[in-house]
Amino acid sequence: MESVIVTGGAGFIGSHLVKSIKEKYPNCVVHVVDSLTYAGNEKNLEGVEHELHKIDIRFSKDLEPLKNLKIDGIFHLAAESHVDRSIENPHIFLETNVIGTVNMLDLGMKYFSEFNPNFKFYHISTDEVFGSLDFNETKFSEETPYDPKSPYSASKASSDHFVRAYNHTYGLPIVISNCSNNYGTHQYPEKMIPVIINSIKNNKPIPIYGTGENVRDWLHVKDHAEAIIEIFENGIIGETYCIGGDCELNNLQLVFSICDLCDEYLGKDIKESRKLISFVTDRKGHDLRYAINTEKIKKDLGWKPKRTIKEGLKETIQWYMDPKNLDE
Ligand code: NAD
Repeated sequence: MESVIVTGGAGFIGSHLVKSIKEKYPNCVVHVVDSLTYAGNEKNLEGVEHELHKIDIRFSKDLEPLKNLKIDGIFHLAAESHVDRSIENPHIFLETNVIGTVNMLDLGMKYFSEFNPNFKFYHISTDEVFGSLDFNETKFSEETPYDPKSPYSASKASSDHFVRAYNHTYGLPIVISNCSNNYGTHQYPEKMIPVIINSIKNNKPIPIYGTGENVRDWLHVKDHAEAIIEIFENGIIGETYCIGGDCELNNLQLVFSICDLCDEYLGKDIKESRKLISFVTDRKGHDLRYAINTEKIKKDLGWKPKRTIKEGLKETIQWYMDPKNLDE
């Protein structure tokens, strides 16, 4: 890895990926392509060497200045990523997640066909493309048929199809991974875990959708970044890999854990923060359960998550509790 593009590199997962790439390959030039929407912030890359290209991937013309770079791979993460926003305004999800991805694929084709036959396009996707599971259903795997339910997951599913189509039709070397919910530092505070921690920090009600029974699998963002690098280096071209934390929790279990760890951190009486929990009207079309089978990446690439949820949450709580970090 000498020179790569990370789209969405100043967002949550993208900024951790840039850091992990630079830790492993200090000489690699990392071009961050990001329009810095509300969700992106160059402060996420403070102290990390990178070249920022403030570009909106929805517009192919805006990508012109990148065409003559010599690039080994594109890690494509730029996306609109919040399900609630996709319910309010699906159109921007179509524009960024689908049209933006096709624009990036065109750029990838240029690198592949004109400069570098070893070029790879890595598309970072979500387990939400597989739809929703009942409590007793088998976990998602690479073979699960697509069945997206929200405008966000529909846009990600569509982008996955385009990426595979560029591989099949034009021979573009691609890999895709579908990952479960990530958590960690530097996540925009509208997402569930920062919302819980910031509510406790500010002594405000902790909003929980419906009855809190919805189940998600949680993975520390650094474990995700390390899996991405492993797949980029050793994954088979054209293949898909499911990534997850082997950590299924319902929302109520998760919020209880965070409350209790915050009480410990703040020196409060145990179970004090649980009193802030407030059940709110459920999200429209809320997927019941996501769970992911990670056998393939473990068996083929030897990757497995390293961080436990308890240590990952403690680190995350400490970061959000720091007054200098964003809380709204
Ligand atoms: P994020 O919202 O924190 O970051 C997205 C980044 O993309 C931001 O920096 C934003 O400025 C940039 N961006 C958005 N629209 C853009 C545009 N039109 N042009 C250029 N840049 C644009 O998202 P995240 O949570 O870091 O997710 C990154 C990727 O990983 C997404 O593709 C998402 O679908 C996928 N993913 C996320 C999770 C998760 O739990 N967060 C899980 C699985 C997969």
